[in-house]
Amino acid sequence: MTEHPLIAYLRARWDEEEQTAWRQHVPLNGAAFALADINSKRTILDWHSGAHECSGPDDNCMWIAEGDACPTTQALAMPYADRDDYPKEQP
Ligand SMILES: [Zn+2]
Repeated sequence: MTEHPLIAYLRARWDEEEQTAWRQHVPLNGAAFALADINSKRTILDWHSGAHECSGPDDNCMWIAEGDACPTTQALAMPYADRDDYPKEQP
């Protein structure tokens, strides 16, 4: 089973952010929110990784093959698009 590089990239970013939330001396509510936010995004990504039926802006019934990144996954990755290590579109 091969995951799209974008999916692996998001999982790695959220692992980092989880570590940061634990380490930082942010007020307890802030840390709890950060961790819940990461868990929320991980749950959405789990629903949209692997082969599945998905919806996009132009097509509300599209089949996403194993190893592809669907529009939802791409939307989850938006905050990271400007980073140098962001996985580029496969040619
Ligand atoms: Zn999807």
